[in-house]
Parts: sequence; structure tokens; C-alpha cells
Amino acid sequence: MDETTVLDDVFKRFLSGASLFWDREVLRHDYIPDKLPHREGQIRYLGEIVAPILRGARCSNIFIYGKTGTGKTAVMKYVLAKLGDKAEELGAPVTTCYVNCRLAGTEYRVLSSLCNTIGVDVPFTGLAVGEVFDRFRLGLNSNKILFLPVLDEIDCLVKTRGDVLLYDLTRINETLRSSRTSIIGISNDLRFKEFLDPRVLSSLSEEEIVFRPYDAAELRDILWDRARLAFYDGKVLDGAVSLCAALAAAEHGDARRALDLLRVAGEVAEREGAEAVAEDHVRRAEKRIEHDRIMEAVRNLPSHSKLVLCSVYLLSKAGVNFAITGDIYEIYCELCGECGLVPLTQRRVSSLVNELDVIGLLNARVASMGRYGRTKKIRMAVARSLIRGAFATDDRLRRLTIYAPKCLAEISSGRR
Ligand code: ADP
Ligand code: MG
Repeated sequence: MDETTVLDDVFKRFLSGASLFWDREVLRHDYIPDKLPHREGQIRYLGEIVAPILRGARCSNIFIYGKTGTGKTAVMKYVLAKLGDKAEELGAPVTTCYVNCRLAGTEYRVLSSLCNTIGVDVPFTGLAVGEVFDRFRLGLNSNKILFLPVLDEIDCLVKTRGDVLLYDLTRINETLRSSRTSIIGISNDLRFKEFLDPRVLSSLSEEEIVFRPYDAAELRDILWDRARLAFYDGKVLDGAVSLCAALAAAEHGDARRALDLLRVAGEVAEREGAEAVAEDHVRRAEKRIEHDRIMEAVRNLPSHSKLVLCSVYLLSKAGVNFAITGDIYEIYCELCGECGLVPLTQRRVSSLVNELDVIGLLNARVASMGRYGRTKKIRMAVARSLIRGAFATDDRLRRLTIYAPKCLAEISSGRR
């Protein structure tokens, strides 16, 4: 078949095939459902804390934390929407603002989002952060509002930029005449508190709310609510939903992961022309998501990490399944030579190996070597074919995957 007929065939099958999805958008991460099962407690508590601003009083600052996919963003947006409606109904001078700090990326952009919400213009770039902050303060002073900024994924900003902005924000009320500000900070990283100056931490966490991971039963309820909206009646089997919930619960109770599994399983099933989404489709979805995750992770690695990974790949291809840092380093230096890069020190390469271990591309464990002491044994954590696939999109790396290092013969003949 030539390509046009292939596509004709694909489209025809797509259009004539019984669709399983009624509305696939419902499974997207940013969809906010009307109901958030198993978060009633957090919603109520958050509501109680912010309620005073409907009566014109400042509310406490709030610090919210929990792992990814535990519903923090969804709950926050839900509460902000309801609060906004109520404030409008009552004519209360409440202004809220939601900023995702990871997406905003810099203090400048976070601040300019806050400014825009209160009607202060800030150029796209060009001012000093302090200058933007002054405009922000001026803007608040020229009004009489209760301002409630929500800084989501605040850990990302603080880790890269420090906590100066948070410090200034938690102090701003001291210099305001009429307006009042309360801050809500949300973090995916449970250890985030360690990054904060104790003064910032104590003012930010006037109230704290923890979002615990969901268990499998809770994830099932959440998924079924979404599945009923996303798929036609009877097009998802109960076993499929339960498996998505179980797999996500086994990881860390991440609802986002569970929704991804269900969506991809639906796509797999639909493409196959299956009658309904079944467990087998979920299993295949799991593989596909893992595959995509690895591709993405490899592609985003810095050059030297790619070469380290490639060195372990070449060793594995030559039959060395457990490599030691010294061997990896030798090959890595050769690869650097091939690419015209100056090699890093062995110590630095050893820490790159650890980073690759953390993201799950390599597997490094410390083994005892009898009288030779302890050494690290390193192997691939994913199938070689996946790494080859990920490297294939980069011409230079593709060539390295078929490169034959000169030191390889010695290493694999067991010199050590
Ligand atoms: P977090 O911000 O904690 O990483 P999110 O709020 O983004 O997590 O939630 C991830 C996904 O799971 C979103 O699509 C969200 O709608 C959904 N979700 C999380 N908790 C619930 C819940 N209790 N009920 C329904 N959907 C939920
Ligand atoms: Mg979030």
C-alpha cells in the first residue's frame, strides 16, 4: 500500500469504527471535575481558612503540600472558583490569582502575573525584580482589596531562585495601608520546608494542609467518575479501571498517573477496534507510557550524561552487564574524544551515574568485592533497544551507539 492508501485506510477505520471515547478531554490533567471525591476534608478546611476574606478580614497564609497527583491543584482551583463566585455575589473586594511557579520559571514572571491581576502593567522584561515589586506594592496601596495569590509548585521557584520573593511577600502587609495580602503556597516536594528560611516558613505556614496519597480504592472512585464522562456506556470494563487504580496506587497514589493509564488504554483499545477497554489494554498502556517517559528522559539529558549512558550501553552490548565506574570512565573518555568534548573528572562522572540512577535509566548498587573492598556495579535499568531508539533521533549519538571503543576488548576480556 502506498502512503495515501494507508492513511485513507486509517481514517476510514477511525470514522467507521465504533468509538469508545465520548469526551477524551475529561481525562486531561487540567480538567477540573465538579466533584472531587476523597478531598472533602481538605476542601472544607481550606474553605474555613479563607472564608474571613469574604467579610473583609485578612485570612491566614496557608502552606499546602503533598506528592504529585494528590489533587492539590484541582482542589485549589475548585476552591478559588467557588470563592470568586461568592465574593462577586456579596460584592466583597476579593482578588485571587493563581500562578504556577514552575511554568512561570522566574521571580520576575511570577511577580508580573501578580501585577497583571491587580491591573498593574509590567513590561515583558527589562525591569529589576525590586522595581517590579515596588510597582506591585504601589498597585496594592492604590486600592483597597484583599489579595489572595496562590503560588503553585513554589518548590521549583525556591530551589532555583531562593526564597527572597516569598520573604518579601510574607512581609508586604507591614507596608500596606489599605489592602491586605494572604499567600497560599503549594509544594509537591515534602522536603521543601528545609529550603526555607525559618522566618519565611513560620509566616507561610500559619496554616498547613497535607494531601496524602490516594489508595487504590480511592483512585477507583476518582477514575470511575471520570470514566463515566469520558467513555460511552459500557465501553470500559471494571477490571480495567481497577487495574489503573492498582498500578497508580502501587507507585505513589498518583491520580494523574491513573488518569494517564486510563486515557492511553482507551486509545490503544480504540485503535484496535476493541469492543471495550480491558485489562490487557491497560497493561499495554503502561508499557507505552514507560517507553515515552524514557524517550523524554534521555532526550533531555545534558551531553555528558548522554555519553555516560552511552558508555554503559556499549559495555552492555559487549556483554559486560555489571560495569564498574573505571570501565565506564575509560569508554566515556573515548566517546568525548570522538565528539570533541573535554572529559569531566572521574569523580564528576561518578555523580552523573548516580543522577542517571535516580531517574531510573541506570541501576547502580554497591557490591562488596572481598579483599578489594567495596565497589559500585552499574548496569542498564531499561532495555537496550529503548536507549538505541532514543539515541536514534540524534545523529551524533546514533553513530556512537555503533562505535567500537578501543578499550572495550581489554575490559570485556576481564582484565579486571
Ligand atoms: P497535584 O496538584 O497534587 O499534583 P492535581 O490536582 O493536578 O494533583 O491532580 C492530578 C489529576 O488528578 C487532575 O486531573 C485532577 O483533576 C485529578 N484528581 C486529583 N484528585 C482528584 C479527586 N479527588 N477527584 C477527582 N479528580 C482528582
Ligand atoms: Mg499540582
